[in-house]
Amino acid sequence: MKRIVLLGATGSIGSQTVEIIAQHPERFQLVGIAYGSQTDVALRLVTEHDVKMVSGPMKDQGRFPEATFFDHESLDAFVNAFDEPVVVVNALVGAIGLKPTLAALNKGFDVLLANKETLVIGGALIKAALEKTTASLIPIDSEHSGIAQCLKGAHADDIEKVVITTSGGSFRDKCKDDLEHVTVADALKHPNWTMGAKITIDSATMMNKVFEIIEAHWLFGLDYDRIEAVLHRQSIVHGMVHFKDGNVLWHVGPPDMRIPILSALEGDDRLVYRSVFDITKFESLTFEPIDSDRYSLFDLGVAVAKKGGAHTTVLNAANEEAVRLFLNKTIRFTDIERIIADCLTAFDNGHDTSLKGVLKLDAEVRRYIMTRYTDGENT
Ligand code: MG
Repeated sequence: MKRIVLLGATGSIGSQTVEIIAQHPERFQLVGIAYGSQTDVALRLVTEHDVKMVSGPMKDQGRFPEATFFDHESLDAFVNAFDEPVVVVNALVGAIGLKPTLAALNKGFDVLLANKETLVIGGALIKAALEKTTASLIPIDSEHSGIAQCLKGAHADDIEKVVITTSGGSFRDKCKDDLEHVTVADALKHPNWTMGAKITIDSATMMNKVFEIIEAHWLFGLDYDRIEAVLHRQSIVHGMVHFKDGNVLWHVGPPDMRIPILSALEGDDRLVYRSVFDITKFESLTFEPIDSDRYSLFDLGVAVAKKGGAHTTVLNAANEEAVRLFLNKTIRFTDIERIIADCLTAFDNGHDTSLKGVLKLDAEVRRYIMTRYTDGENT
């Protein structure tokens, strides 16, 4: 029986993780949940799964009389409170995911990671933590999960390169000029995947693919020149591995996040999941290079990744704040890229990648954006 602590339990990945857990009660038990705002959903989870450890906003504490309650501002303390071995599923959104991931690995708990921002800002910290523990870090991201399937039984030395795919996001058929006037509602209409708001916007800007390249770099230990991304409109090929002997393995499947979630949870077993996938429905599969004029944020982000250092923290914090401002209709879609570029100029690429240094820089970037872009004058 795997005892699961689910961080971000009420979000898109969190809810789908609960579905998978419920389908295999003989294998998985939900023992802890952390949530941010959806109290009613959290209450239902606690009742249905008899969860005794809960993290949420302190004002909600009285509504969970049967559970030990933790402030959701201290997710690392929440993870540290588990004495028996657990598996931590990190389905949080944003930089907030770094501290609990480190806490879990330091306690020897496996982490199933959907929170890619953890690796974007703290890749070096996670790598150092993994070198000191027997615990594993397993991706819950369709591309990386697919690549991990292709790599089962393979040796790292045998990999020539890996390729991740992108659908192109909700504006893939719009030209750059059209993007000045797109709405939040348009941006949230992803052609293939149903996902949370932040990642849907990241897909539209192509920042999600930048983050996934960084994620692949740390997960698979590959240099950036051996990680590629291609535009694949059908979203059924998720990842490819080119081996040095000329063999190329593809991971193919429906765009359904419950498959990578189950793959991460099941480990080396194959548990049952009923999905319908009929390849004859696809008359053709297309693969195109990413147009760097159209998706200029992609090139900018990859350049930041390749330089390394603390600038990936600036990239992430600026992106998180800019996406938030777009979602609450303070700025336009195209301002996301302008704000990110501004922050990368305003903040030097320092080399302090300690946890303290990363969190300090993260806060500074957010403050900079708050003072500069929330009065409307600079947008
Ligand atoms: Mg992905």
